[in-house]
Amino acid sequence: MAERGLTIAEFRRRLSVWFSSRARDLPWRRGVDPYQTWISEVMLQQTRVDQALPYFERFVDAFPDVRALAEAELDEVLLNWEGLGYYGRARNLHLAARQVVRDHGGQIPGTYDGLKQLPGVGDYTASAVGSLAFGLPEAVLDGNVIRVLTRYDAVPDDVGRSPVRRQLRRRAQALLDPTNPGTHNEAMMEVGATVCTPRNPRCAECPIQSGCAAHLVGSQEQYPVKAQKAPVPEVQVAVAVIEREDGRLLVQRRPPSGLLGGLWEFPGGKIEAGESPAEACAREVREELGVEVHPIHEITVIRHAYSHFRIVMSAWSCRLASGVPATTNGEPCLWVTRDQLADFAFPRANRRLIELITQETD
Ligand code: SF4
Repeated sequence: MAERGLTIAEFRRRLSVWFSSRARDLPWRRGVDPYQTWISEVMLQQTRVDQALPYFERFVDAFPDVRALAEAELDEVLLNWEGLGYYGRARNLHLAARQVVRDHGGQIPGTYDGLKQLPGVGDYTASAVGSLAFGLPEAVLDGNVIRVLTRYDAVPDDVGRSPVRRQLRRRAQALLDPTNPGTHNEAMMEVGATVCTPRNPRCAECPIQSGCAAHLVGSQEQYPVKAQKAPVPEVQVAVAVIEREDGRLLVQRRPPSGLLGGLWEFPGGKIEAGESPAEACAREVREELGVEVHPIHEITVIRHAYSHFRIVMSAWSCRLASGVPATTNGEPCLWVTRDQLADFAFPRANRRLIELITQETD
């Protein structure tokens, strides 16, 4: 099949030659360890390489193989993931490691279907791990590859639509070099990450430039086409920093599933219509822990953007007025020292609050 000046064979060849001299030296590329490939690909799903690097090294130091990960407590896994966000990824990795040990004797499955049986493994991760670690001829389609393909073919359709995704997947699969699928996939992602960047793509350095439809007419930045997103909602929350006479603070664990599942936090929740932050603090603590607190003063207001919403968090220093705290959802709550706060995994907004309240007493 002709490719606007590049045959498929030539496309593959140029990509391969370019990658052999341009590939970044990344720890998970040094030798093929399916476990490390898997961890890196899960981390890279929603995180840039430079951000993921220190987390990757810390994570594989803490859990050097699938058995170590399976034997760890979820709290420990979340603590080593803290700051990376999208905590469902860490919970699924932990569940999947236990499944690999239980059902596969500690060997990560080497088939596409076997990989997809694992919690949290979708098309992208199965293709990436399958091709990179096991040489399976499965093309990956991540944000970088989508950008390259939609520019290369000048795809005019919204890439958020399922039929367009399927079309792109078929296109990626047709271009895949079946003799070296892992390297081909990495090269496609690398072109997207380092050359075919969202803004100001460096087309002069691109190995497939002579076949690129968008480059031909200078319309690179029009692709990929994405429907306009709805504005991100903002949620107002209030949290209570309840300090006991011995200086210990009360923290509780969130339920294991759902947003930020399994992470620790200060008690609190959404501020309802007509409520002040202090009133919301007292009500939330009463509902969640069955105790009365007196909010004394506002410590700070922290703004933080999650993927689908933003929060404005009003944090209050509170005094316990009556009762013994116990969660109504069965999750643990603990009185901990300020130093011990470092041993628990907290969402980013809570961690910023912790930095503030621990500095205050230094
Ligand atoms: S020529 Fe430019 S726009 Fe086209 S794939 Fe390469 S970097 Fe992207």
